[in-house]
Amino acid sequence: MPVERKHCQCQDTQGHFLARAFARLNVELELQALLLHPFRETTISVPLKVHNDGKEVLRTYVGHRVQHNHARGPFKGGLRFHPGVSLGETRALAQLMTWKTALVGVPFGGAKGGIAVDPAALSLDALEVLTKRFIQKMAPLIGTHQDIPAPDIGTNPQVMAWILEEYSKSHGYTPAVVTGKPLELGGSAGRLESTGYGVACLTQKAASELSLPVNGARVVIQGFGNVGSHTALRLAELGFHVIALSDVRGGVYADTGIDVSAALRHVRATGWLEGLADTEPISNAELLELPCDILIPAALEATINCDNADAIKASLIVEAANIPVTHLADATLRERGIAIVPDILANAGGVSASYYEWVQNLQEFPWDHETVIRRLEQRLLRVYDEVRDLAQRRGIDLRMAAYELAITRVAEAVALRGF
Ligand code: GLU
Repeated sequence: MPVERKHCQCQDTQGHFLARAFARLNVELELQALLLHPFRETTISVPLKVHNDGKEVLRTYVGHRVQHNHARGPFKGGLRFHPGVSLGETRALAQLMTWKTALVGVPFGGAKGGIAVDPAALSLDALEVLTKRFIQKMAPLIGTHQDIPAPDIGTNPQVMAWILEEYSKSHGYTPAVVTGKPLELGGSAGRLESTGYGVACLTQKAASELSLPVNGARVVIQGFGNVGSHTALRLAELGFHVIALSDVRGGVYADTGIDVSAALRHVRATGWLEGLADTEPISNAELLELPCDILIPAALEATINCDNADAIKASLIVEAANIPVTHLADATLRERGIAIVPDILANAGGVSASYYEWVQNLQEFPWDHETVIRRLEQRLLRVYDEVRDLAQRRGIDLRMAAYELAITRVAEAVALRGF
């Protein structure tokens, strides 16, 4: 999909969902404007000399940090490294974080950052310099009680370690300034797999409510990065049948089920899912339209859109990615009776574990893996029940119920603090 079209869809989609929720909640126009506009948007350019075909060339990379709302606590949200990063996309994703943190009740606001770069095209050294120069320019805006970055698409614990190092140069060792760090530097047990585990836990919950057979329910997962792979591993452990997986190059399919651990070993050895033993190749477009019980988009925005919504055959969609379903596709899927666990609930395991990491850093008291995962699952299941109960009471879908709860909490915090 052309990059521009994807950006428009992601901002439009967010706008449409909010407009519906604001209308249902009778939110006054003045308050709507306050809730919609970001607190601060920062664009930073980072010059960097890189090697290209044996020659040194100067490139200028452009990055953003959008701090949407901090009524409920410090700004919180990931940092994305991807060629498609733009201010518009970052703005939509920052706002999504405000609703996500409010919905799951962690004491944070919402933010998002990103640099338009393909991290795979840079050497590790160049990536380190790029990250540190970006953070040098961002340092006045972040802080343990100001704005706390985390991983997102294209970033990982190593990138978080560079952020910690750069920030600590001027502030002293400050692990709570960033989450998703390596364990050796104050990272939390369970943070790496937390988003995927959360997705799997809510998939199991939603599947049982829809009376789908957990043992043997057929699951298709689009995206095999940190979130997609941990979701797949956990679902396989829980007895689900993962029949298709994909990465940016394409997908693999096995009617009898894929050995997810073998898929992970194959990706570690070759870089891609392509060529995985005992599977057939399949395109990303074909994968989304496979007959299955559960479809889990775990990659970029707008993968389920007007072009394929009619062809989706799953009974349940669990949004592991942020904004993977456009508003028009959402309307089609609702009409077709396909249940959706929305992103701000489905993938909130990540930011919940980030909250636990921040708490552990502030208290300088680490928790064990079992404690993190137990608290994470309890939190997500409790919020799922709240959302499902509201949806049933009001006769609305899970997404609208989740937005209503989140918007109400943020609006109350804003009003209490005063304008
Ligand atoms: N990037 C993740 C998200 O979209 C995690 C954010 C965080 O942990 O702050 O939810």
